[in-house]
Parts: sequence; C-alpha cells; structure tokens
Amino acid sequence: MTPPDGTRIQRALDTAHAAHAADWGGKNADYIPYLASVDPGLFGLAVATADGELYETGDSGYAFALESISKVFTLALAMEDVGPAAIRKKVGADPTGLPFSSVMALELHGNKPLSPLVNAGAIATTSLVRASTREERWARILRTQRDFAGRDIALSDEVDISEQRTNAHNRAIAWLLYSADTLYSDPMEACEVYTRQCSTLVTVTDLARMGATLAAGGVNPFTGKRVVRHGNVPHILAEMTMEGMYDTSGDWAYVVGIPAKSGVGGGVMAVSPGNLAIAAFSPPLDVVGNSVRGGKAVAQIAIDLGLSLYVTPERRE
Ligand code: GLN
Repeated sequence: MTPPDGTRIQRALDTAHAAHAADWGGKNADYIPYLASVDPGLFGLAVATADGELYETGDSGYAFALESISKVFTLALAMEDVGPAAIRKKVGADPTGLPFSSVMALELHGNKPLSPLVNAGAIATTSLVRASTREERWARILRTQRDFAGRDIALSDEVDISEQRTNAHNRAIAWLLYSADTLYSDPMEACEVYTRQCSTLVTVTDLARMGATLAAGGVNPFTGKRVVRHGNVPHILAEMTMEGMYDTSGDWAYVVGIPAKSGVGGGVMAVSPGNLAIAAFSPPLDVVGNSVRGGKAVAQIAIDLGLSLYVTPERRE
C-alpha cells in the first residue's frame, strides 16, 4: 500500500485541527494531579508514514505523558519474550466492556484481565517482560519505547512521583491478580514499573513515529531498526482494535475502522497497517477517558484519507 500523497496528508491534518481547535468539550484527567495541571487548550496532530515521512500541525512539540499508550509498547516487548499464544492465554484478547481500571471486570472473568490494554492486563503484561530485577524490567521497557520512537524518550520524575503517590487502586489490582496467580512477578514491582512506563514524555510526532513502526510491520521507518517481529504486529493491532479506545472501541471500529490507542494524558495513536500512523494530543477527555479533540481529529483524518480497514472495492451488479 502506498501512503497518500503528502499534500493531501498535510491538508487533512490542517483541516482537522481547524475543525476541532475550538471544541472545549471534556475535562483533563484529575485522578493523577499532574494531568489536571496541563493546559487544556493544547492541541497537536501528526502523521508518520510507513516510508518515513512526517507531517505535523498545532502544538506538535509539546511533550506530554504517554500514559496508557505505553501499554501497546510493553505488550510488544512481552510478546517478543513469551510469544502471542502465551499473551492470549494469560492476559487475553477480548474487550472487557468496562472502564480501564475496573475490578469488576476481573471478578467477572475469573481474574483473567482479558486485555493487555486495560490496567489489570497491562500490569500482568509488564510482569511477563523477561527480567531478573526491577531495573532490568524498566530498562527493557524504556528501550522499547525509544526504539519505537527512534529517539531518547525520557521518564518525567514529576509525572512519575505524581502517579506513584496516587496509584493505590492499581496496587490493589496487582495484589488481586497475584492472589489469583494471574501476575508473574512481584506485584508491587510490576505495579511500580507499569506506573513508570506511563510517566514518560512524548510529543505527538514521537507518537506518530511509534505508530508508524507498527504500520511498517515492526520496523521503525525512520531508523530502519526492527523493533517487533513481523508476525506479532497483527496480534498487537487486534488488541488495539478490541480495547484501544476503552469501552468505545466498538464505536471507534464502526466509525473510523483502524486500530487506535488512547491515554489519559490526552494522546491518541491510530495505525493504518502498511500505510501510516496518525497521532493526536489534547488533554480534555470524554467520560471513558479518550481525548475529545484528539479522538475527533484522528477520526476525521482517517475518514478524509479513506483508511477504514473494512471498506471493500465497490462492485457493479
Ligand atoms: N497511569 C494511568 C493509570 O494507570 C494510565 C491510565 C490510562 O491512560 N488509561 O490509571
């Protein structure tokens, strides 16, 4: 597949930015104090293609917290380590139909998280990353984020402290998993490293490059480095389709038709396989936790560029 022509991509970005910049719907996440303090007017968009072109508009240089989008990259690493069959068996590949931090979802499914893209499944996935110490687990996860971006992504101590101090609910989830034998390392270590992986800072152009690595079948098109085994990419994208936009993932598939993942920091990353990635950043979130401007803009760009995976060529009778 050849990515659309550059002028068309840039026009789609600029049009979507203009269409949604004045949308003041939603509210910053406030259960993590740092996130509540980010300027709600920030709005950046970017596209990175599978052949290594980059387009951007708006606040594309602002670095924000990666949050739940980190779950995708840690999933990729754990899948390299244990293989897709073990991920499916131990974590799952179905939507939970419930909020990303739901304990009830665990109770309903015998303590199997169902998805690596909700908090329980992400903590379990972090625990599956091969490591003999906490530092090794963290170093491998950070290296993976950097390989995806092709740049030295860094941890924000400010975000990390803000999150570690307020993550009692995630710690409870980790203990619950541990008590049911569905966590595979020390529970507090897994929870701490998971929280750290959410606390790195990225720009919307980093996020587009990270998505483009998936769009290009696991090779970062900007550095040429293979980051993910080619055969694992479809499984990662399937997980994103099922749960990437939380409990509105079905709606997203219906309207937009490409896998995506959002984070409560306001980021959204969508992947058109073989083609390109779209990234957005804007802090105010809707009720399920997706960026309002980000979700609307990514949807508009994907529709504008005709990216839905479910479209077939039209046939005459
Ligand atoms: N660090 C956040 C948490 O664990 C990430 C949640 C998210 O982005 N959905 O709650």
